[in-house]
Amino acid sequence: MSHELERRAAVQAVLAASRLCRSVQANLVTADSLAKKDRSPVTVADFGAQAVVSTLLGRAVDDPIVGEESAEALRTDDGAELRARVVQHVHTELPELDGDAILDAIDRCNHAGGPTGRHWALDPIDGTKGFLRGDQYAVALGLIEDGEVVLGVLGCPNLPHDLADPDGPRGALFVAVQGEGAYTRGLDDDTERPIRVTDDTSVRDASFVESVESGHSSHGHSAQIAGLLGVEAPPVRIDSQCKYAAVARGDAAIYLRLPTRKDYEEKIWDHAAGWRVVTEAGGRVTDVRGADLDFSIGRTLRDNKGVVATSGPIHDRVIAAVREVLGI
Ligand code: AMP
Ligand code: MG
Repeated sequence: MSHELERRAAVQAVLAASRLCRSVQANLVTADSLAKKDRSPVTVADFGAQAVVSTLLGRAVDDPIVGEESAEALRTDDGAELRARVVQHVHTELPELDGDAILDAIDRCNHAGGPTGRHWALDPIDGTKGFLRGDQYAVALGLIEDGEVVLGVLGCPNLPHDLADPDGPRGALFVAVQGEGAYTRGLDDDTERPIRVTDDTSVRDASFVESVESGHSSHGHSAQIAGLLGVEAPPVRIDSQCKYAAVARGDAAIYLRLPTRKDYEEKIWDHAAGWRVVTEAGGRVTDVRGADLDFSIGRTLRDNKGVVATSGPIHDRVIAAVREVLGI
């Protein structure tokens, strides 16, 4: 089924939210807020981006959204100052919305997910820690139909066009529809070009990406896996689903997300968009045992543990090493 309308709406929504996040990161994340460990800039951008995506999507399609945030905290007296800042930033994209419409748009993203029908999975800012450090983060939006992710859009406002040239131009969007391949474009220029995973099948030469945060993925285990595979280059650490983008456009051949806790359930909004983008770029994504990710159960990937994404042909070898090191 063609998803032209949904694709266009999702791209416009992610672009608008990415612009909002970029302006908040440039204006509110200061040395002062960092020193005080003040998370309010990311909170403003998180709520603002969710309001913008929810509103723009809602004008094009009438589907429920599974989103990370709820506006509860903004509706209290203590939340008045934060609410005012959120409204101010949303107005840079959607000046016609009043405060109540903005809160309602945020709260519309309270769907429970599940195996039937259509819903969107939204992470308004994936990689909040990266956002606060002035590093990488992503606006991630996926469309799930009867438990399958059919469309993914990733806005990566800070991602260098070329990872090897971190001082060069930055800001990219990735979009993929089931069966139609994966594409990238800049945030400010609308020319799309197709992307593919790397066709280098040498594991030794593979570069791999993982979380910056050791609490989100075990760095110790990834080092052992790299050793077992003979991977020579050190890991490239990137926050957010920009890691999926790096695999999809061939910057890296392997993305390892290795459980740090037995009880952690990966969230669907942390993987839906990236999964579709890597899959359409020719890569493979499974959990650490090699099982397919199951997006049909609700808000989490309860039946999976961790994530491994690769350029494809090397996947089984990588999974074998992962299983050996993790003892599973
Ligand atoms: P990353 O930037 O790839 O490290 O991932 C950021 C995401 O990690 C956040 O959106 C959280 O939802 C998620 N997260 C939080 N705690 C954990 C955990 N213990 N294990 C894996 N992911 C986590
Ligand atoms: Mg996230």
